[in-house]
Amino acid sequence: MKELSEVISPGEISAAVRRLGAEINRDYAGRGILAVCVLNGSFIFFSDLIRELTTPVEADFLKVRSYASTKSSGDVEVDCWLKTDIKGKDVLIVEDIVDTGLTLSVIIQRLKADNPKTLKVCALLDKRAGRKAEINPDYTGFLVDDHFLVGYGLDLDGHYRNLRGVCKVRPPGLKFP
Ligand code: 5GP
Repeated sequence: MKELSEVISPGEISAAVRRLGAEINRDYAGRGILAVCVLNGSFIFFSDLIRELTTPVEADFLKVRSYASTKSSGDVEVDCWLKTDIKGKDVLIVEDIVDTGLTLSVIIQRLKADNPKTLKVCALLDKRAGRKAEINPDYTGFLVDDHFLVGYGLDLDGHYRNLRGVCKVRPPGLKFP
């Protein structure tokens, strides 16, 4: 049995999503956005965030795999790519968490090759200590410590995505620091 300890409450998440939405609405005023959901982990954050947006939003989805259980493999496999032609569009990538940044750097490289007008990143969580690639989200919800996190879309082997808050998880026998 794993133990969970909440590090970001549902109320804190809602406030951050509203703040991020307001920042994006201000920056993109009068322009449309193609919002790109990075599946699977971002699906809850994405659906909350785009409902804060007052500018016209087109939504599309891509799915990549970069993690086996709790360890970053460093390898990024694309399972499913966008259906939309992004050429000349203002594209906003919506990501649940940036750790090494390797996943996003692959996604950004591939999206840039299709000539969007602009390309920005909105990440709910930023685990800066783990960074291996030069990735700095344009919009960040929370800076988080280097713990494995679950909840609000983030999973551990498919579980815990439905938790309303973000929690750190520890295996049996280990103490939370
Ligand atoms: P990166 O390529 O930046 O190391 O990792 C990005 C992806 O790894 C995220 O989209 C997420 O799927 C997964 N990831 C990174 N840190 C965590 C974490 O603490 N918890 C969970 N559940 N997934 C994580």
